[in-house]
Amino acid sequence: MENIYVIGHKNPDTDSIVAAIAYANFKNKIESEDEYIPVRAGEINSETKYVLERFKIPVPELMTDTSGRKIILVDHNEMGQVVRGTEKARIFEIIDHHKIGDIQTSAPIMFHAEPIGSTATIIADFYFYHKVKLSKSMASILLAAILSDTVIFKSPTTTEKDKLIAEKLNKIAGLDVESFGMEVKKAKSSIKGRNANELIMSDFKDLEKNGYKYGIGQIEVVHYEEAVARKVEILKELSAVGASRGQRLIILMVTNIIEEATKLWFIGDAELINKAFKKKSENNELFLPGVMSRKKQVVPLIHGVI
Ligand code: MG
Ligand code: MG
Ligand code: MG
Repeated sequence: MENIYVIGHKNPDTDSIVAAIAYANFKNKIESEDEYIPVRAGEINSETKYVLERFKIPVPELMTDTSGRKIILVDHNEMGQVVRGTEKARIFEIIDHHKIGDIQTSAPIMFHAEPIGSTATIIADFYFYHKVKLSKSMASILLAAILSDTVIFKSPTTTEKDKLIAEKLNKIAGLDVESFGMEVKKAKSSIKGRNANELIMSDFKDLEKNGYKYGIGQIEVVHYEEAVARKVEILKELSAVGASRGQRLIILMVTNIIEEATKLWFIGDAELINKAFKKKSENNELFLPGVMSRKKQVVPLIHGVI
């Protein structure tokens, strides 16, 4: 009997926490040789807290160093997003829905990636395919993770498979999907009582291409006013965060999930931003109607001009 830890990315979102919980549970049900334990790579956000509390699922233990551990990565496959010590860990599996990154392993592994809306979709599909029983609470948190990552199916990353699996999950969960999705998203959308650093870092990714280091944070709001009122403070903090991380460009996406648009605020390389989006930024801002997804609508455009 060995402990194998299932872990999501740093600055965990609901998908990476739920994927770890649900995949560990799935593995424990289909095999008895080892013990699969979900862990988290950082503090959970207010949305994840709401989801786990509502369905009475315990918050996974924190693991900030995986050296010497046996691990499974969910919802990420890039070295920029792993916790410390991962180069000295033994990676057994990767389950993800992002582009293939730069992780290397010394032995063959199970690597399952699909270009779909959430890791939770993949894991729920495993349950259905292998006819493993899903409890009501497990089905509910998987549904919450799909709704979170796909922004209630509005993100362009959403596929038919995400919708189909969500429907199957809801046969067990028995929720009103649309209003449940709004409740989940609203748990994270308030920016009151959070300082600029917390806002930027709550869902932040360090990125790099050809040695060009940059970072993108994202917040989701149901209206712009509160954020706009704090733009000066947020830009100042963006500048400090970028400097401390040695990044030439630092971005905060303020995504309005009702309007389905993003105000992209940034510090640094305006020329690169203008080129990437073929639009002229003003006052450290670009308004991007229809843009909701960092990985599908922002990162590829930036990489295209680096
Ligand atoms: Mg994620
Ligand atoms: Mg995800
Ligand atoms: Mg996400």
